[in-house]
Amino acid sequence: MRTADIRRRYLDYFEAHDHTIVPSASLISPDPSILFTIAGMVPFIPYIIGTEPAPYPRAASVQKCIRTNDIENVGRTTRHGTFFQMMGNFSFGDYFKDGAVDLAWEFLTGPEDEGKLAFDGSRMWVTIWEEDEVAAAALVRVGVDPDQIVRLPREENFWDTGQPGPAGPCAEFHYDRGPEFGPDAVGGDVDPGGDRYLEIWNLVFDQFLRGEGTGKSYPLIKELDAKAIDTGAGLERIAFLKQGVANMYEIDEVRPVITRAEELSGKAYGSGDVENDVRMRVVADHVRSALMLVADGVRPGNEGRGYVLRRLVRRAVRAMRLLGVTTPSLPELLPVSVAVMKESYPELEADFQRIAGIVYGEEDAFRRTLESGTTILDSAVRRVRDGGGTVLGGEDAFKLHDTYGFPIDLTVEMAAEQGVSIDTEAFTSLMQEQRQRARADALTKKTGHVDTSVYTALASDLAQPVQFLGYTDATAQV
Ligand code: ATP
Ligand code: MG
Ligand code: MG
Ligand code: MG
Repeated sequence: MRTADIRRRYLDYFEAHDHTIVPSASLISPDPSILFTIAGMVPFIPYIIGTEPAPYPRAASVQKCIRTNDIENVGRTTRHGTFFQMMGNFSFGDYFKDGAVDLAWEFLTGPEDEGKLAFDGSRMWVTIWEEDEVAAAALVRVGVDPDQIVRLPREENFWDTGQPGPAGPCAEFHYDRGPEFGPDAVGGDVDPGGDRYLEIWNLVFDQFLRGEGTGKSYPLIKELDAKAIDTGAGLERIAFLKQGVANMYEIDEVRPVITRAEELSGKAYGSGDVENDVRMRVVADHVRSALMLVADGVRPGNEGRGYVLRRLVRRAVRAMRLLGVTTPSLPELLPVSVAVMKESYPELEADFQRIAGIVYGEEDAFRRTLESGTTILDSAVRRVRDGGGTVLGGEDAFKLHDTYGFPIDLTVEMAAEQGVSIDTEAFTSLMQEQRQRARADALTKKTGHVDTSVYTALASDLAQPVQFLGYTDATAQV
């Protein structure tokens, strides 16, 4: 089942159930408190928190999302993209828990020839809030094994906006891929390590009015009159299960970029070199994210969204270099991503010249950075060797990183080629100091914002202006 087909099925199914189909909003968040659209609910926030009347009682969308907080997971887990598509259905004072559970269950487990996904319901595990007996009863009624309903405390399965207002429990569907992917969910722990239980769909029940309090310790004052449903299902995660591949980077909309990276590098994906596989997945993810960001009007820069885009392009280029490709890569990779994404996003093809100009220009700029950084590095290494030493100081590495955007792993690698190591401990502590400064700075600039939910942590993370910290932090592998 192609990804575009799953997307189509989702929209058709919810349209048949009287939902208004709403096109994806831009990746540039319509909510000014966050940089990017991080979830399907973001465009609907005013209707969910009740500051504006909803123009329809039910809606469904497939929303383009960017989550920068997942960047270090990309290529290392099976399931985190910086760009991904969140399928969501929403009810504004219309159906509630029973309706949301019925709709999700029927779509997940109904027959394929009726436009549904035909997942094996006996493999589904659902985490709920421990006091949510209504959700538990609805799940049992549709056929979820009661032993696979996992009750969690409020800290782990409860949505709120970070301030007094609407709040409520979640029910999260996890699919058991089978014992070959990891240990059993002993005691209901659906995250026992390994990649066995995959979270695919989060149903958020916007049920209560909450009072003052920090974290999740606030009183639930009363039931809301107008309850809302907000759900989010990861299209790529469902696609990788339905396509029988190992992870979301191997689906039809992503894998062809890995194939092109294989051709360019002459290295085979999946041949046992784990780090090379991660690099190829990073390349495929980041090229796609850069494509979608530029298509939505983001331009490379040194702060905010532009810096995120810059970092994605640089990481992709860097990963290609580590794969041994030193010639310009993006002109080879970007068109492949467009070719697989244009069915769902035809504007990519129409706008290709503009997008390509920006993306290729950013790769060229990074290549020039690498060249000037190399000159500086070479002279620093020469200085160390002339003095009879073998270790380059952390300050030099930091300066290269901070001023020239020269990635630390590249510094380490290139210095090693000349028999010199780097004082990475000193480098790391300089990085930490800088990060603390940036954080203090960001906090003073931060204005109050409406935090959005289960996405609270992400939102507040992203609401802080992103500082130009050079290329990437010291722990990044590529
Ligand atoms: P995880 O715990 O796996 O990081 P999450 O709990 O952060 O996921 P939610 O915020 O609940 O995810 O988002 C709703 C759904 O969107 C998830 O159930 C998942 O299917 C999908 N999703 C979330 N983050 C990503 C991502 N980075 N890449 C792909 N799909 C994602
Ligand atoms: Mg997450
Ligand atoms: Mg989760
Ligand atoms: Mg979740």
